[in-house]
Amino acid sequence: MIAENLIAKMQTVKALLSGARSLVVLTGAGVSAESGVPTFRGTDGLWEEYRPEDLARPEAFSRDPELIWRFYNWRRELVGRCEPNPAHLALAALERQAPEMLLVTQNVDGLHQRAGNRNVLELHGSLWRLQCTVCTYEEENRTDLPPLPACPRCNNLLRPGVVWFGEQLPAGVLSTVLDTVAKADVMLVAGTSSVVQPAASLAHVAKRSGAVTIEVNLEPTHNTGFMDFALHGRAGEILPQLVEGI
Ligand code: NAD
Ligand code: ZN
Repeated sequence: MIAENLIAKMQTVKALLSGARSLVVLTGAGVSAESGVPTFRGTDGLWEEYRPEDLARPEAFSRDPELIWRFYNWRRELVGRCEPNPAHLALAALERQAPEMLLVTQNVDGLHQRAGNRNVLELHGSLWRLQCTVCTYEEENRTDLPPLPACPRCNNLLRPGVVWFGEQLPAGVLSTVLDTVAKADVMLVAGTSSVVQPAASLAHVAKRSGAVTIEVNLEPTHNTGFMDFALHGRAGEILPQLVEGI
C-alpha cells in the first residue's frame, strides 16, 4: 500500500513537472552531496577542527584571512575534482524540455552549469569568482591560488565571491528571484535543509502566489509540513525518476 501510494505520488509530481508553464527549481547542498561535495550540516560537517558555518562569515575573514582562504582553497580543490551527478543531469534535462524554467541555487560549486543548465541564478555566489575587498574588481578564476591572493588592479586582498552568513544577497538578485517565484505555477525545492534565509521562504512566496510546491530531500525539513508534495530520499535517485520520459 505504501509503495503504491509512493508510485501514485511520483506520477502526480511527474505530471505537474511536465505540465508546468513556468517552473522554478531551488537547490541546496544536498543536490551536490552525491557528487562528493560535503554539505554544511551533514555528519561530516567539519573542516580541520572548525564548523564550516563558523568560517563562512565576514568576521572570520577579517580576523584571519589566511585561515579562511585555506578553507576556500581546500573547497575549490575538492569541488574541482567533483562531477555533476544524476540529480544535476536530471535538472538539466528538465530545463531542456520546460517552456520556462529558472534554477535558483544556494550552491557555490558551479555543478549545475557543468551539467548543462543555462538559466541558473547563484543566490550565494560562486567558489570560482573572486572579488576585491577594496575596489570593484571581480574575476572568474579556476586556477590554484596563492595563500592570500591580491587584486591585480589595486593590490589589496581578494576574497571569495560568495555570500557569507550575515551578508546581503547581491543587489537585484533577490528581486529577480521573487518576481519569477511569484509567477511560477510549480516550484520544486531539492536538497536544502530550508533553514538559510531568504532561500527558505521562497517556497512560501510561491505557494501564496498559487504555485504547487514540491520538496525532494533526504529527510523531512522545516518546510515539509506546508509543501503540497514531499518526496524523501536521495536526490540522485528521485530526480531522474521524476524527469525520465517527460
Ligand atoms: P544544508 O547543508 O543546510 O542542507 C542540506 C540538505 O540536503 C539537508 O536537509 C540534507 O538532509 C539534504 N541532503 C543531503 N544529502 C542529500 C541527498 N543525497 N539527496 C537529497 N537531499 C540530501 O544545505 P543548504 O540548505 O544548501 O544550506 C547551506 C548553505 O551553505 C548554503 O547557503 C550554501 O551556499 C552553502 N553550501 C554550499 C555547498 C555547495 O555549493 N555544494 C555545500 C555546502 C554548503
Ligand atoms: Zn582591487
